[in-house]
Amino acid sequence: MDIKVFPVPSEKMKTKISDETKLGFGKYFTDRMLLVEWKSGQEWCDARIKPYEPFNLDPASLVFHYAQEIFEGLKAYKWTDGRVALFRPEMNARRFNQSAIRMCMPEVPEELFLKGIEQLVSLERDWIPTTESTSLYIRPTLIAVEPVLGVKPSDHYYFYVILSPVGAYYAAGFNPVNILVEDQYVRAVPGGTGEAKTGGNYASSLKAGLEAKQKGFDQVLWLDGTHRRYIEEVGAMNMFFAYGKRIVTAPLTGSILSGITRDSVLKLAPTLGYEVEERLIDVNDLMSDIKAGKVTEAFGSGTAAVITPVGKLCYKNDCLQLTGGKVGEITQNLYDTLTGIQTGKLKDDFGWVRFVE
Ligand SMILES: *Cc1c(COP(=O)(O)O)cnc(C)c1O
Repeated sequence: MDIKVFPVPSEKMKTKISDETKLGFGKYFTDRMLLVEWKSGQEWCDARIKPYEPFNLDPASLVFHYAQEIFEGLKAYKWTDGRVALFRPEMNARRFNQSAIRMCMPEVPEELFLKGIEQLVSLERDWIPTTESTSLYIRPTLIAVEPVLGVKPSDHYYFYVILSPVGAYYAAGFNPVNILVEDQYVRAVPGGTGEAKTGGNYASSLKAGLEAKQKGFDQVLWLDGTHRRYIEEVGAMNMFFAYGKRIVTAPLTGSILSGITRDSVLKLAPTLGYEVEERLIDVNDLMSDIKAGKVTEAFGSGTAAVITPVGKLCYKNDCLQLTGGKVGEITQNLYDTLTGIQTGKLKDDFGWVRFVE
């Protein structure tokens, strides 16, 4: 499919943030966006790259009422030789379509997903920041825009991609976060939408997150919705626990998001001398293993922050510190190696990097 490129009028061109250490996360957007429509009977049509601007949507659009929407998140890095690298974007394309199937939305052809992103990023390459731990965050989104109040799959969709130059995900930098194991609310249940990257999962997690913030925590760690006993994941990160040189994470049971960073950690860790294991983690066992000193490190994995060290884990009335509140050796090693591959400082033995032409 040909993507039509519309010019950006000079008065609509934005001024780039000159101090890249002030970027924050997801606050600024580039000059252009990709928009492709799907209409029943016509399938995918009207692919265009156009100026970044608000949509003019009918207030009855299905997405506003019944949340038929999915999204993805990936990053582009500008290497010191000027090349622009994406990290495993075909995994995002595949997961996007898995989410689409779950939400009764049309799948985006992988080729369109990848070529669309590459063409957009290529046009916006001047927006990619180059300061340490910055990147261009890419947000593909699919929304239902048919204006009707009946509960049903839409007959009209917008697939769009926006770009945001980002700095470190956490303002405080690569520092351990404090996590509360949530014992009241649940994020996902078997048969639900936990495995799909869909907005509703986030909307329903806000309350737990807010209450945890008020108690001084950075994030919530979810337990499984049936037994409220097995570790699932954190907000937008999968979780890992290091038992010495063995790294353990929860299996993909259907209510957990299948993280691409998670998959990368599982593939990378053995090459760094660590053993990996996917198994159910009972929160009670985990707490006593931390107490007994068997769990030496804990960290989260996700595109936004790549690897996030955990400093403190609290469950009910029990608060335990990990790694003396410092960044552990395995956590640091995985962060350095993953970001090293992404930014071209280290060799990519896995073929994970895909260059933008
Ligand atoms: C996106 C996301 C993750 C992390 O996935 P990555 O592909 O590693 O970025 C983890 N959990 C949830 C709920 C997510 O939405």
